[in-house]
Amino acid sequence: MQFTHNADHPLEDEVARVVRRYFENMNWPFERLPIGIDFKARTTASDSRIVDYELRDVLLHGKVRIYFNFIFLLQNESAFIRHIVPHEVAHVFAQAESYRRGITIKEHGPEWQKWLATISADAIQAAKGPGDIFDDRSIRLFKGGTPIRCSCPGNDGYKVIAQSSEARLSEVVCPKCEVGYAKTGRDDAPPEVMCFYEYLANETSVRSDI
Ligand SMILES: [Zn+2]
Ligand SMILES: [Zn+2]
Repeated sequence: MQFTHNADHPLEDEVARVVRRYFENMNWPFERLPIGIDFKARTTASDSRIVDYELRDVLLHGKVRIYFNFIFLLQNESAFIRHIVPHEVAHVFAQAESYRRGITIKEHGPEWQKWLATISADAIQAAKGPGDIFDDRSIRLFKGGTPIRCSCPGNDGYKVIAQSSEARLSEVVCPKCEVGYAKTGRDDAPPEVMCFYEYLANETSVRSDI
């Protein structure tokens, strides 16, 4: 049980294979630092860390936990595999280095950048990754955000803002149609938003943890 995951979708299997290859290529000591990958539709961004770690005879032991947000994987698998996957794997390598050397590092500092460049030449060297590629409207809606609409037709005119921003709604206009936004109902959400919203609603009840 040195490499485990809860993939139940072909795209998740693909991600698990890619992750395994990154670690194998760097001669990762799976026996000391077993890897567990958790695929979930959640409201939080993908994340990775080494837990329960300790140095024994100068060798690092612990458990690697990587969580990938299935919503964003499903929305754009090529961007996810190209950018998000190496981004999270590089965090694990950088953390292992910092724990082994007993130093504190910045989350997206030079050590992380070095590892990211080592494992993937194409991945974006930015803390947020290619944020704009992914659509977080379903997540905002699920977290109780306020759906609003401008005059742009269909999917383009639908946005979700945080409840706390509602008071300033009258101050902004859509740069495209130049019309202000008005609150709209949840049932006005385009199908591409509702589809991911349902993933979020179901995920909490159906899928097991690793
Ligand atoms: Zn990061
Ligand atoms: Zn508009």
